[in-house]
Amino acid sequence: MSKCPVCSTELNFLNTPLLGKSKLANGEKLCKNCYDRLLTMCDQAQIQSLTPNDVAKLFADDDAYVDGIITQIENTGMNRQSIIDYWASTELKYLPGVLDQDETIVAFANGVYDDVTGVIVATQARLFFLAKQPLLDPEVTDFDWDLVESVTPEIDDEGVGVITIAYDGDLQEIFGVRVADANRFADNVAANIEGFGDDDDEEDEDEEDNAQPGMAEADVPAQLEKYAALKEKGVITQAEFDAKKKQLLGL
Ligand SMILES: [Zn+2]
Repeated sequence: MSKCPVCSTELNFLNTPLLGKSKLANGEKLCKNCYDRLLTMCDQAQIQSLTPNDVAKLFADDDAYVDGIITQIENTGMNRQSIIDYWASTELKYLPGVLDQDETIVAFANGVYDDVTGVIVATQARLFFLAKQPLLDPEVTDFDWDLVESVTPEIDDEGVGVITIAYDGDLQEIFGVRVADANRFADNVAANIEGFGDDDDEEDEDEEDNAQPGMAEADVPAQLEKYAALKEKGVITQAEFDAKKKQLLGL
C-alpha cells in the first residue's frame, strides 16, 4: 500500500483521486485531502510538474500565511482557539484568497448575514461579509467604507448581539453575534477607521439613556409567548424560560 508523499496517509481507493489526477512529477500520488488543498493553489495542469517537496513547501508557506491571518484576528481581541474551532482550519483557508497581501484585519466577528453563517471582517480598505459554505466558492459581500454611515452593536429580543450597518440609506444586519464580539467590533471600527470615532460615542450614550425597561414592559405578554414557543421547540430550556419570565415580570 503506498502513502501520500506529503501527509503519509495510506492511500486506498476511496481517498485517492481517480485517473491519476493527483500524480506528481516523481509518479507518486497525493491523497484526496492534499490534492484538494493543492488545487486551491495551482491548476490541475501544474500538479504533474511538482515534486513532493514543492507541495510541502507550498503548504508550509500557506500555513504560515494563514497563521499570520489568525494572529491579525487575534489582535482584534478574539480568542485564538475559538477562531480556529469556528473555522475548522480548511474553511479558514478562504480568507487568504479574499484578503489582499497588504490588507490587515482590524475588526472581526462571527455572525449570520442574509440567512448565511459567516464572518464580518473590517480592514482599512473595506468591510465585507464572507459566507461560510465549505462546499462552494467563497462568497463575499463588500460594503464600501464611503457608503457606510455607521456600525452599531445592538442586542436582539433574545439577548443575542447584532451588528447593524447603516449602508447607503439601508440597514444591513449581522445577526447571531456574541454580544461582546458585537461591541468589540464596533469599538475596533471606531478606533481604526477614519470617520467612525467621535460620532459613535454620542450614540452610545443615547442608547444607555433609553435602555430596555420601558420598551420591554409594553409587550411583556408578547415576549412571554415568544419565549414559551421557543421552549416548546426545545430552543431554550425550562430553566432558561423561567429565568426570562421572572426578568420580564420583574419578579
Ligand atoms: Zn496527503
